[in-house]
Amino acid sequence: MRLKIAFLWMRWGVRAGGILVFCLAAAAGPGVIPAGAGLWEAQKKTLVLDPGHGGQDTGVQGLGGSVEKDVVLAFARLMETRLNQVYRVVLTRTDDYAVKIPMRTAAANHEKADLFISIHAAASLHPENHGIEVFCFEASDPHGSREGEPSGFPGDAAQAPLFWDRLQARHQKASEAFAGILKEVLGRELKMAVRIHQAPVLILKGADMPAVLMEIGYLTHPQDAKRLQNPAEAARFADAICDAVSDYLK
Ligand SMILES: [Zn+2]
Repeated sequence: MRLKIAFLWMRWGVRAGGILVFCLAAAAGPGVIPAGAGLWEAQKKTLVLDPGHGGQDTGVQGLGGSVEKDVVLAFARLMETRLNQVYRVVLTRTDDYAVKIPMRTAAANHEKADLFISIHAAASLHPENHGIEVFCFEASDPHGSREGEPSGFPGDAAQAPLFWDRLQARHQKASEAFAGILKEVLGRELKMAVRIHQAPVLILKGADMPAVLMEIGYLTHPQDAKRLQNPAEAARFADAICDAVSDYLK
């Protein structure tokens, strides 16, 4: 079976409603393909969407043979079509190939994104598990940097180098604010339960902008799977997330 799963959850030492089977990170592959960026687009805010997995890294598998890498790419495309009239939207993966995690984060930094959303889908050994999980970065080191903390660099703090592992820490409150808007909008528009977590998610660590990783549902739960596979339901879901993005970026 090609199913590749990693219990990063266990490594993080947190659980949400049972045993969450979390998806495995991407392996090596081609780089990032940015969307076209004309001069006028420089005025637009930039949203980088990161469809997880790709290529041999399928992510989790769910009901009806659904595969995470395909589900999240289709969903990212759905969001892109809704948002690219207002924002400059860049996808870190535009087809079925692998992209290394640092390349995904680096793409968001390179594009100077105003918001970075890594899109994944979950699976669970407990088929009743369902809903949306949103992750914000939190350093595993209790002495790690937090927003507003001094860098520890001797001399002029303003001249301190920006370390990769400190980049997201200074956007932590903004990332949590966006996660809160997602929870509020999805609850209000679709009556969906959204759980927000803090965890040392690798892909968020070096992101120099507000950033979240979003599990858009459990492929092992009938209702979640149907929401992502039925075009009308998927469109309503994407619309609601895009409303949250617009609420945050305006
Ligand atoms: Zn995944």
